Amino acid sequence: YPVASKLLLVCTLSSGGLVAYSESQSDIGSAGVVVDQIETKKKKVVVLGTGWAGTSFLKDLDASRYDVRVVSPRNYFAFTPLLPSVTCGTVEARSIVEPIRKIIKKRNGEVQFFEAECVKIDASNNKILCRSNIESNLVGNDEFFLEYDYLVIAIGAQVNTFNTPGVMENCHFLKEVEDAQKIRRTVIDCFEKAILPGLSEEERRANLHFVVVGGGPTGVEFAAELHDFLEEDLHKLYPGVKDLVKISLIQSGDHILNMFDERISSFAEQKFNRDGIDVQTGCRVVSVSDKEITMKVKSKGEICSIPHGLVVWSTGVGTRPVVKDFMEQIGQGNRRILATNEWLRVKGCENVYAIGDCATIDQRKIMEDISAIFEAADEDKSGFLTVGELRDVIDDIIMRYPQLGLYLTSKHLADVTDLLKDSEGNERKEVDIEGFRLALSHVDSQMKSLPATAQVAAQQGSYLSRCFNRRDQSHKNPEGPRRFTGSGRHNFQPFLYKHFGQFAPLGGEQAAAELPGDWVSVGHSTQWLWYSVYASKQVSWRTRVLVVSDWTRKFIFGRDSSRI
Ligand code: FAD
Repeated sequence: YPVASKLLLVCTLSSGGLVAYSESQSDIGSAGVVVDQIETKKKKVVVLGTGWAGTSFLKDLDASRYDVRVVSPRNYFAFTPLLPSVTCGTVEARSIVEPIRKIIKKRNGEVQFFEAECVKIDASNNKILCRSNIESNLVGNDEFFLEYDYLVIAIGAQVNTFNTPGVMENCHFLKEVEDAQKIRRTVIDCFEKAILPGLSEEERRANLHFVVVGGGPTGVEFAAELHDFLEEDLHKLYPGVKDLVKISLIQSGDHILNMFDERISSFAEQKFNRDGIDVQTGCRVVSVSDKEITMKVKSKGEICSIPHGLVVWSTGVGTRPVVKDFMEQIGQGNRRILATNEWLRVKGCENVYAIGDCATIDQRKIMEDISAIFEAADEDKSGFLTVGELRDVIDDIIMRYPQLGLYLTSKHLADVTDLLKDSEGNERKEVDIEGFRLALSHVDSQMKSLPATAQVAAQQGSYLSRCFNRRDQSHKNPEGPRRFTGSGRHNFQPFLYKHFGQFAPLGGEQAAAELPGDWVSVGHSTQWLWYSVYASKQVSWRTRVLVVSDWTRKFIFGRDSSRI
């Protein structure tokens, strides 16, 4: 498609230097110190978060152009797709993390990192309040302010308990490296407790009942990892209780992995069935205590409780409080998740960007624009267009919104092609616009939510850094690609997500993959593809070597079951 090729800057960057900031007068209050910000011509960019989005932004940013400050409560980047492997010791925690200082040291220019949490964004005064989370008796102030010209929010999301009673207190989560390490220790605790003398069989069974709530990729992968750990290592070490062990996977929907192709979801269910993993679909957890998990079986309306030794809660993500508070300030308080435009700029803010799991691109505008194109083309308001006119309209839409093409599956294309032909297969002279609108509304519903994945976060991070890097160029050549609506021209093409497929490891050296072009692959060869992709995606050679050597170590010696 004829896509304009020049990328120019999306943001309306105002010029001017920084002024040394000495007094703090803001909505935030006067607690804490203001970090000394030296007078410089460079714009201040503050990046919140060192996860997938933040790190990929920093890796690609030309830091010599900006005065860059990074704030995050963890001073490392973690390769989250391997967290389930850490829970069972297939891979060691330190093998999947890379110090952020090492990553930013390689940047061209000085980037400062502060290990702290942003607790408040003051959008009207362009500053943030941060608090150190280092728990110690070290002296000094824990709070400080940072000013920004541009703020990049990349703080990810938090676990979502859906306010289910007892979940926060009694469940494990799998979001951070510490969570994975805690699960690893608890699994061993369950076994060590179960073999102590004096326990009844019922008590041993309860301690060895591992429950996973959530049948998405993380829950499924954890259940599969745990099953392998039990089969390959723990059964040999705890032979007396091996027949009492049970893994249950609870899913509120009708199938596990329901965001994947249905062939993958049924392959996974059959495999888990063969492996003895008890998959309970159509069940909603209503409460969790330290001993029991209570759920409602949707079809029968029955409530039942089962004892557990460990519950891992993995049911999706929610918005962090600091983002919620920021949303209230900028008039997005009625939304569930922070909205950006297609250029990743936060709606309602000139100089704040949000990338990764903490935000979503609001695509409603696109569908409004598309409706307007149809209406403009239908000059006589008849509700019909000739096939020639329709082709022009479609070309126009795809040129303006190339990302639309990405969501058109073969089914949508077939629907659209059907509309162009009559019952005998001849091309119609006129086409009903409403039919087209309907076909596009399916696409619309898919476009509304990009998945909360590392792939999306990383692509958004590098897209945004490219925008920042070309700022000067865009000032010299302000004529960017034409934008459809009346707001003139935009300097950059909008963010366009490229989907490279997704994996679901299923244990027993088998995996499933959904690859671009509706390709589905399952089995042992897919597991080897998984190994090679995940080794190649490591953030550094150090972690790549460590991860591959962990996999090799597991093959030769098995997993380490020490509780340390
Ligand atoms: P994160 O990576 O979560 O990073 C957020 C960063 O913000 C962190 O550094 C955090 O410390 C920091 N932060 C938090 N609060 C604050 C604050 N107040 N102030 C400053 N900084 C803050 N995706 C895939 O594509 N493929 C997979 O196979 C896959 N597997 C996964 C397995 C597991 C177990 C999990 C949990 C996720 C998996 N994901 C996978 C999803 C993927 O990890 C997320 O989509 C991705 O991490 C989102 O990136 P992010 O940068 O938005 O957030």
